Amino acid sequence: MKTQTLETLFTDTLRDIYYAERKILKSLPKMIRAAQSSELAAAFEKHRDETEVQIQRLQQVFELCGKRAQAKTCPAIDGILEEGDEVMESFKGTPVVDAGLIASAQAVEHYEMSRYGSLAAWADALGMTDAASLLRESLQEETATDEALSTLAEGSVNRAAVHEMA
Ligand code: FE
Ligand code: FE
Ligand code: FE
Repeated sequence: MKTQTLETLFTDTLRDIYYAERKILKSLPKMIRAAQSSELAAAFEKHRDETEVQIQRLQQVFELCGKRAQAKTCPAIDGILEEGDEVMESFKGTPVVDAGLIASAQAVEHYEMSRYGSLAAWADALGMTDAASLLRESLQEETATDEALSTLAEGSVNRAAVHEMA
């Protein structure tokens, strides 16, 4: 049996979020197109650009570990994005779709926040200072995105959805 160390757990989880980020980057254009509110589309566009940088940060963390950047299937993000697709399909073209898109996107952000939070704490424990700060930069962006989405939902999107006629 190979030795299962915190370093191994760290690398496995890094591969998990690397898979997730790349999959999210592929899904965002579809979410941008599905958004009815131009503010929501703009928020997704901003986060697509951030996601590109987050992927580069992960590649830097792999490099700091002396590992090749390699993705490992994340069933959690596959499932979260699949649920998002269902909502997009069911409420396509209505103002309600925006409320659903925000909820789906926040499920994604919360998953990412949990991953980056754990990885940053493990990097601290392993004395990997540079990796920890790269991971916290991404954690900060995910948190800010989550908050921006709440503001959009509570500020306009949910109200617009209530007034949608059946
Ligand atoms: Fe991300
Ligand atoms: Fe995962
Ligand atoms: Fe994100």
